[in-house]
Amino acid sequence: MHDVVIIGGGPAGLTAGIYAARGGLKTLLCEGKILGGQIVLSYEVENYPGFPQGISGMELIENFTKQVEKFGVEMSYEGVVKIDDDRECKSVHLTNGTCIKTKTIIIASGASSNKLGCPGEKKFTGKGVSYCATCDGAFFRNKTVAVIGGGDSAIEEALYLTNLAKKVYIIHRRNQLRAIKILQDRAEKNSKIEFIFNHIVKEVQGDKLVNGLMLKNTQTGELTRLPIDGVFVYIGVTPNTMFVKDLIKLDEEGYILTDEKMETNVEGIFAAGDIRSTPLRQVITAASDGAIAASSAQKYIESKF
Ligand code: NAP
Repeated sequence: MHDVVIIGGGPAGLTAGIYAARGGLKTLLCEGKILGGQIVLSYEVENYPGFPQGISGMELIENFTKQVEKFGVEMSYEGVVKIDDDRECKSVHLTNGTCIKTKTIIIASGASSNKLGCPGEKKFTGKGVSYCATCDGAFFRNKTVAVIGGGDSAIEEALYLTNLAKKVYIIHRRNQLRAIKILQDRAEKNSKIEFIFNHIVKEVQGDKLVNGLMLKNTQTGELTRLPIDGVFVYIGVTPNTMFVKDLIKLDEEGYILTDEKMETNVEGIFAAGDIRSTPLRQVITAASDGAIAASSAQKYIESKF
């Protein structure tokens, strides 16, 4: 029987691992995709304290992972399909059919990129449609690309792409960006960026590779074709709660409700990071949640077992 099983290997899960294992708990961390979560897609993190020059998402996660390994967290690279609660013994069912018994669970499964859902998106994924500028930006050196979305991710990644592409369109469905002011100002000053407001993507077009977008004006309904070589989609995220939604209370947007100790509605099950109903989703808040969740799990175990 494990003391704690952590589901998810982003900043929240990794920090929970560091705190739990350092606190002497027998800890297993399950990550079904790649360690690091969404932040590994970020070219530069410039608001995580302690790195005044900025640090890439990948490098930051490598540092988190070294600390996790140092404290002896056991790792599993299987996804989680279901969790069961039998009061003092909980079960975590993995994709390979294994069932792990544990005293507590910390859910830190984060969120995944939303899709446009328009014709051509799926067909051209990896052939000009991307959800990660850091991973795929180099394929578009001196080419023309579009970034879809008006939030922090869209603007940050569009700015990154200006280092590679010759032209970057930012296509946003409204006429006002959602991103914080400092990013808006930088994008407005960047001569490689051109904004196309009040437009949505109706179709991603191409032959073997993407060669254009069919855009629709949200005000007039008019359709126009925009020739581009690549499109980067940053239209928000959806919480990864498929495996808990019958057991754990969620808010109206599908994020897990917790109290300030990261306790969910089920005793001994905690949640941390972007999966949680929270006013701010950043690496620093995810890490903080992870630390609190591990500490709460430890106190729960001390009181119950
Ligand atoms: P977000 O803040 O939810 O923004 C999503 C953007 O996509 C919005 O502009 C939204 O338009 C647009 N959108 C949503 N659905 C769309 C659709 N179907 N078609 C076209 N456009 C659509 O998501 P995010 O930028 O990925 O950020 C997620 C969280 O991470 C946020 O809390 C953000 O602050 C945080 N983050 C922080 C940093 C940083 O601090 N450095 C960097 C990246 C992300 P509307 O504006 O019209 O809703």
